[in-house]
Amino acid sequence: MEAVRVKALRCPACGGNLELDQQNPNIETCQQCQAKYTIQWNRSSETGQEEALLKPLPKRIAYEPVPEVKKKKSGWEPYGWKRGVALVIAFFVIMGAMYGPKIYQRYQMDHGGAAVEETVEDEAR
Ligand SMILES: [Zn+2]
Repeated sequence: MEAVRVKALRCPACGGNLELDQQNPNIETCQQCQAKYTIQWNRSSETGQEEALLKPLPKRIAYEPVPEVKKKKSGWEPYGWKRGVALVIAFFVIMGAMYGPKIYQRYQMDHGGAAVEETVEDEAR
């Protein structure tokens, strides 16, 4: 982009008033279109007057921090609570599938099976 020479501090794009940036004294901001310019004062060799040399700043390097958009937590993040609960439930489901039948068999031997043993003992007498 070409630098624009202006005598008054006016926005070359829209003619609005330029004001010094509060946080960066080398940057002028147009009050009308929010365009930013770096400013350089040059003494003209012809007229001997100060001239402001304005260079338009690309908007993408504007210093304003982009407000961070905070996503609402769904709970399914890597350490989200829903995922944690789902993992615990999955753990018990797998443990139940693996050991459930064995526990049931053991229960049958201790309780249901006891009656069978009694009858066997009765027959032996
Ligand atoms: Zn402007």
